[in-house]
Amino acid sequence: MKAALLNYLACPVCAGDLSLNADKTEGIEIMSGELNCSQCRRAFRIVRGIPRFADLEKIEADKQATADKFGWSWQEFTQEDDKYDEEFLGWIAPVRPEFFKDKVVLEGGCGKGRHTRRVAGWGARDIVAVDLSAAVEVAFESTRGIENAHIVQADIYHLPLRRVFDYAFSVGVLHHLPDPRAGFRSLVSKVKPGGHVSAWVYGAENNQWIVRFVNPVREYVTSRMPSRLLFHLAKAPTALMYAASKLLYGPLNRTESGRAIARHLFYNDYMDFVSGFNWREQHNIVFDHLVAPTAFYISGGEFERWWRDIQATDVVIGWRNKNSWRGFGRINNLPAKG
Ligand SMILES: [Zn+2]
Repeated sequence: MKAALLNYLACPVCAGDLSLNADKTEGIEIMSGELNCSQCRRAFRIVRGIPRFADLEKIEADKQATADKFGWSWQEFTQEDDKYDEEFLGWIAPVRPEFFKDKVVLEGGCGKGRHTRRVAGWGARDIVAVDLSAAVEVAFESTRGIENAHIVQADIYHLPLRRVFDYAFSVGVLHHLPDPRAGFRSLVSKVKPGGHVSAWVYGAENNQWIVRFVNPVREYVTSRMPSRLLFHLAKAPTALMYAASKLLYGPLNRTESGRAIARHLFYNDYMDFVSGFNWREQHNIVFDHLVAPTAFYISGGEFERWWRDIQATDVVIGWRNKNSWRGFGRINNLPAKG
């Protein structure tokens, strides 16, 4: 961690101030040491450059299983794709790169840190990226030495942070939590009044086929398999998706007359989008859908309620590829917990 991170941290248990006791530093990174709470006297270790607030032994089993599974995926799939910028901006629309300039940003669930590095490069004053899983090791390596990027291992329900953020975002994470809405609220609770939040979640609409046919397989079979085995098995459905997207959906959607036909096809918007991805990226998508022990598909009505509950204003909710929801809104004084 970099010393500047201390400005944003607070004890996750009592919200007290933390003081830093560094053992070993490499360049601007404090590689090992301890953070001590001035109030409750708890100590949190810095290990391999990352402050560790997650009491991994105490985290509920399902949440930990999700973190472990995705941690494996993120350490295995370390590719970069030039469509990532476009994809990320699609998830957080209407936010554009200029929006990040000089903002203090919180990322809820950073995985391997692919968005973290982008946001740091777009001129955020600082980005604090939190994840529960072992993927923080990859995120740390990929942001190492970047002065305004900070990686923290912590539980989204118990964020070791002050309420000082101008903007918080979470893409593709909340629907994997045991209680997605509580995760959303926790994130929002760290945003200053007048700041903004973005969230992107799987939609219930148009995903009934996943809920009916894929979910049972995921819950009872694939999420319980050894990751290495699933990695290979996922190649079969990936081959179908790859062939359909490259040979059918992609080409059809490139011409006017083709689009007229394509819009009647199953899952067209998403498949057209995916047709731009290479094999490895599609394999990654299929794997991630099969590996998660927990996945909720959230209806538009329910998603709107999340934003009403926190009394956000100027809320923009959008449909993404007709199978997921993204939201953006302004945070005011938070209502009491309900
Ligand atoms: Zn404390």
